[in-house]
Amino acid sequence: MDNKLIFLVDMQSFYASVEKSANPKLQDHPVVVAGDPERRSGIILAACPIAKQYDVETAEALWQAQQKCPDLIIVRPRMKLYIELSYQITQILERFTDQVEVFSVDEQFLDLTGTERLFGDRYTVAHNIQDEIQEELGVYARVGIGPNKVLAKIACDAFAKKNEQGIFELTHHHMKDTMWKLPVGKMFGVGSRMEKHFSRMGIQTIGDLANYPVQYLKKRWGINGEVLSNIANGIDYSPVSTQTHNGQKAVGHHMTLPRDYETLEDIKIVLLELSEEVAKRARAKNYRGHTLSLGLRGANVNDPTGFHRQIKLTSPTNYGMDLFHAALQLLNKHWDGLPVRSVGVTLSQLQSADVYQLSLFNPSVEKDQLSKAMDDIRKKFGQTAIVRASSLQEAGQVFDRAQKIGGHYK
Ligand SMILES: [Mg+2]
Repeated sequence: MDNKLIFLVDMQSFYASVEKSANPKLQDHPVVVAGDPERRSGIILAACPIAKQYDVETAEALWQAQQKCPDLIIVRPRMKLYIELSYQITQILERFTDQVEVFSVDEQFLDLTGTERLFGDRYTVAHNIQDEIQEELGVYARVGIGPNKVLAKIACDAFAKKNEQGIFELTHHHMKDTMWKLPVGKMFGVGSRMEKHFSRMGIQTIGDLANYPVQYLKKRWGINGEVLSNIANGIDYSPVSTQTHNGQKAVGHHMTLPRDYETLEDIKIVLLELSEEVAKRARAKNYRGHTLSLGLRGANVNDPTGFHRQIKLTSPTNYGMDLFHAALQLLNKHWDGLPVRSVGVTLSQLQSADVYQLSLFNPSVEKDQLSKAMDDIRKKFGQTAIVRASSLQEAGQVFDRAQKIGGHYK
């Protein structure tokens, strides 16, 4: 559908802003991030707004920029840091929706369709996103809003980047008075060669392109001609695609019980064991997860009961008790009280555990230390050297499972 609520969130002068935020002494100076500052032939990767006041531009040669601005401070790029900050921005955005697409290191799409009752109107959400990124990471974000990705992107690039509040909404309705008036070269996908070509065809503005018969464009440029015509007309059906950075999407563990468990107390015991196991596996792979799911299957094969539900954790975690509390919440809400044959706990929306430790607000230091101590003891003395007291009860499966590999006895 072409009528969603899509945001494009773009970081202003991303690399330069990150460097300034990391080093407050740079705050009031013209700063650029440039490849190989030792060589004057290096290229500017990002310029801060102060440097831009001197007409310093992205992609120009360092020596040119230094001519324009002799006091220019040149910083070597730290790509790893920028990518880590980009992950953190994704996490901030995921507070508003799980539909986040990393478009580039400093641009991310959000699909917020249907969230207005949760988080307020679109402008409130846009302001909140700006505030949270500014407060937590010290970077100024601009927000383009549209009914699809194309219009959100143009709203951001052509308008939000240039206005006071850094927010602009572009709808089909007022597209004609805004975007169509722009020179066609401002539209993404149109390079300088194509712009010249268009010019010879009498196409000067995006509006001219939008109204040019599409069959001629197709004849000349094939499918790309049609794509450009669609962009100019603000038509775009592509979804926000939420591919995570991580190769692995989830860490989980599932257990078929030795008998049907009928009481909440018994189910809670295996739930805690599963939560600890999943947390341990996530730690072993150096992940934290942001979503927990619980699956429960009933005992009667002929009358399948049970549920599979998920819940967003307050922050990414690999701490067993965090997983257990979330799983318990789901259990209390969704269990129908019938006997249970099998239980599964999964942690998803994974991210590197290291990334999170860089976060400015990290409430998990103590949890990390406790978890690490438990992992170390188990490594040294065996899997059952340290267990929850609850696992000593009959319903506990830890001791039994420690005897098995992949469900079979060793
Ligand atoms: Mg940017």
